[in-house]
Amino acid sequence: MAKILVVDDEAQVRGMLVKMLSVEHHEVIEAENGTQGCKKYRKHRPDLLITDLVMPEKNGIDMILELKKEFPAIRIVAISGGGGITGSFDYLPIAKLVGALHILQKPFTLQALKSAVAEALEVPEVH
Ligand SMILES: [Mg+2]
Repeated sequence: MAKILVVDDEAQVRGMLVKMLSVEHHEVIEAENGTQGCKKYRKHRPDLLITDLVMPEKNGIDMILELKKEFPAIRIVAISGGGGITGSFDYLPIAKLVGALHILQKPFTLQALKSAVAEALEVPEVH
């Protein structure tokens, strides 16, 4: 069991993640944008951060950059709708560049999430 912070501006996506992660007996904390995400990360010090990238107030990339400075060993899994069908810019490769261990394109399967989370949690927190 791990403590996981889920950051996404869509309540529906957060709800789905909470459901998926609770089945795995993880403790889940939610935030709806990068500003809240930074605050909650500092307060709760979760084992893993799962974050959306396109969000109002503070986007996922800015949040990752900010937290990575304070917590260099932070474990991150980035999720995003990305480009392709919607034609919007794909931020997932950038998330990887700035330190996400795994990236998941929405929509993803429970299995894909489970293995990304399991693999990310295996990375030792070496400072
Ligand atoms: Mg979003």
